[in-house]
Amino acid sequence: MLKESLSVMDMFKIGVGPSSSHTLGPWTAARRFVTKVLSAPYPVIRMQVTLFGSLAKTGKGHGTDIAILLGLRDEDPVTFDLRMLNSLIDQIHQQQRIHLGGKHAIAFNPLTDLVFRYEESLPRHPNGMHFLAHLDNGEIVSDVFYSTGGGFVTHEQEFDQQSSTLMLLPYPIECAADLSKWCRNSGLPISGVVAENEKAWRSAEETHQQVLTIWQVMRECIYEGCQTGGELPGGLHVERRAFGISQRLLNGAAYHDYASWCEAIRSGGLSFANTLDWLSCFALAVNEQNAAFGRVVTAPTNGSAGVIPAVLQFMLLFDPPEDEDTAVIKFLFAASEIGCLFKKRATISAAMGGCQAEIGVSSAMAAAALTECRGGSVAQCLMAAEIAMEHHLGMTCDPIGGLVQVPCIERNVMGAIKAITASQLALSGDPDKARVSLDAVIRTMWETAQDMNHKYKETADGGLARVIPTSLSEC
Ligand code: SF4
Repeated sequence: MLKESLSVMDMFKIGVGPSSSHTLGPWTAARRFVTKVLSAPYPVIRMQVTLFGSLAKTGKGHGTDIAILLGLRDEDPVTFDLRMLNSLIDQIHQQQRIHLGGKHAIAFNPLTDLVFRYEESLPRHPNGMHFLAHLDNGEIVSDVFYSTGGGFVTHEQEFDQQSSTLMLLPYPIECAADLSKWCRNSGLPISGVVAENEKAWRSAEETHQQVLTIWQVMRECIYEGCQTGGELPGGLHVERRAFGISQRLLNGAAYHDYASWCEAIRSGGLSFANTLDWLSCFALAVNEQNAAFGRVVTAPTNGSAGVIPAVLQFMLLFDPPEDEDTAVIKFLFAASEIGCLFKKRATISAAMGGCQAEIGVSSAMAAAALTECRGGSVAQCLMAAEIAMEHHLGMTCDPIGGLVQVPCIERNVMGAIKAITASQLALSGDPDKARVSLDAVIRTMWETAQDMNHKYKETADGGLARVIPTSLSEC
């Protein structure tokens, strides 16, 4: 398995829903290809994009077609004005023209120039895509990219290249045993080791600012999701629930912005029922925003984007730290390192490992982060991550209608609840007596992923996606 150095900013990417592997990844790949062909000496006169395997099978439900069009326009998923999305896509379909890079117009009919090869896969990963451009001198330029989960994109020629930055990190980490060793040797918590490693990419001040921006996008996503009712797009007629739950819990309490909303929530007290309802509401809110093509942060993916914000928001509201910014940074640093372990030793791609690779990983990340923020030892943090993943092993990916809605949205609630329970168990447990290590559970998850039938790997060919008849995917 290749070694790679991953930053906290790699694990938490600001983007657009509903899927990191099927929306953000293809969007990024299209931008990379269009940047390359627009710098060619001859103008592009025709373009064709082909999606393979899982990208083709759930691509329409996951917005892959939309992401490709926006990527070909070189729109930035971090800043793109989402209010323009529908009109821009409609315009491309009606005019059958697209402005490559936002400036060079060519004829492009999405119905024929964007090809879905449902029964074919490319060799390196189930999420393969092929870009082909004809230049006006007769030359053809083509590239193959793979979307490997969490918004990561790999060109086919990059697959076998080893990251050159690994040795630049003061604490190179490949597995949980490495992380444990560095924490022991340095006396630092997980977040402290991450903080030192991040200095290889940018200054501590820049990293702190970027991580706080990540949290700002996460909390805006929670807040917006709780203010927005109605039905989700896609034809499955799924009703948004966060809005109704939020209204019910606040019982008419007044608020005008995020800060006063938080105060209103706190005034509801610390009963088990109240705090659990809010935890569920936060997770629902993020993933409803995600399903509605809202702006979200991969954590580590879009499908699982609600777990970490929900647990972090829960902690900040119901167990407030002395310094909120410090706690947010600590939480997201620790969470990211656990996500990196799964990416390096297993996968965070549902097309490779099913839903255990999305919700399971996000739950493990949140469990370890919460444990560190609550004063747990490094061993207890790793134990919490292990417990959270242990109880997601084997979980399949079976999105109904190929949409990231059912069971995805509720799974974030369950992932958040399991994270908190895992943290509680670890904080009251003795890691020396644990029978399963985090490295062992990561290895088990990867072996389970390899044994899992392809029907359960983001293809919408099995599980709930086949059992529940819909007008989108009839049995
Ligand atoms: S079932 Fe899980 S892995 Fe599959 S799309 Fe939904 S959240 Fe992602």
